[in-house]
Order: sequence, then structure tokens, then C-alpha cells
Amino acid sequence: MTQTIFMVGARGAGKTTVGSALAQAMDYRFIDIDLFMQQTTQMSVAEIVAQEGWQGFRRRESLALQAVTRPSTIVATGGGAVLAEENRRFMQQHGTVIYLRAPAEVLAQRLEESPQDAQRPTLTGRPIAEEMLEVLAAREALYQDAAHHVLDAAQDPLRVVTQILEMLRLHEA
Ligand code: ADP
Ligand code: MG
Repeated sequence: MTQTIFMVGARGAGKTTVGSALAQAMDYRFIDIDLFMQQTTQMSVAEIVAQEGWQGFRRRESLALQAVTRPSTIVATGGGAVLAEENRRFMQQHGTVIYLRAPAEVLAQRLEESPQDAQRPTLTGRPIAEEMLEVLAAREALYQDAAHHVLDAAQDPLRVVTQILEMLRLHEA
């Protein structure tokens, strides 16, 4: 197996946590698009959005997604990467897409417990649990559309990794 695996899901779903553990388990390279963009642009998400708007950010995100897609690589995408149909199709065609799915209250609790992981500008300025409900309502169909496989991401990260490994083995056979 030398494929590219894309992790999609909302902020706090565990794309970074599960993705990097999975990469270790599979001896794959791990790339976090959010980090990759910060390093290549020398700007934070907030700075890019302030200078270029969300549209500029999304355009850079699509380019970054294509730039990091290589064999034997796990890619943790940004929570909003699925908003662009171009990205959904690209991921579908160039690898295996895994949707880490968790209820809004679980995501909100994780983000409240580790605010450093919630670095994106909030979309609405309202309580995080409310915002997550809204984000999931707007994006659930897009995550499902992009995904080859949907995993329950409310479980312990190691269990999620184990399930992904089993699932990949099943589909390889
Ligand atoms: P994402 O990259 O999808 O935004 P992260 O991997 O950064 O999510 O996780 C956000 C926060 O939630 C981190 O503090 C992380 O430790 C925690 N976390 C991630 N996955 C799980 C999990 N399955 N169970 C419990 N906590 C988790
Ligand atoms: Mg992340």
C-alpha cells in the first residue's frame, strides 16, 4: 500500500491527532495542511484571511492540497477543505478519504479544553457549541460526499487508528 490518505472532518475531530498516529503505525509521511500553509506562507490562517479574504485562503488551500499529495502520505486537511467541490473530487480521485465524524458537543468540548487547537477565527462569534452545530449542519453532506469511509471519531484516538487500519486491510484484500 502506497496510497495517499486524506483525513477530513470538522475542527477538533482529530485529523491531526489520529492522522499522525496513523502515519506512525503505517510508516507513512504525515502532512498537516494547516501547518504546511503556515510554513509556506509565513502567515497564520487569520492573517491570510485578513489580507486575502476567505476566498484567497481557500484558493491557497486547494493549491496546498495538490502540492502535498504524494504516495505513502497521510494528509490532515483543514476543516473547510470539503467546501470546494474541486477539493472533494481531487481527494476522491487521488487517494482514500476518511471522514472523522463526531457530534457537535464532543467537538466543542475538545476545542474548549485546548483553545490552542481552535486557532481559526470563529465564524460567528457565538458560543462554540452552537457554532459547531451550525458548521456540521452545513458541512455534513459535503464530508459524506468526499468520504470513502466514515469513522466514529468520538472514541479514543487509538481505537480510531485501529479501526482505520482494519478498514484499510479489509479493502486491500
Ligand atoms: P483537528 O486536527 O481535527 O482539528 P486535533 O487532532 O487537533 O483535531 O484535536 C483537537 C483536540 O482534541 C486536541 O486537543 C486533541 O488532543 C483532542 N482529540 C483529538 N481526537 C481525540 C479523540 N479521539 N478523543 C479525545 N480527544 C481527542
Ligand atoms: Mg488539525
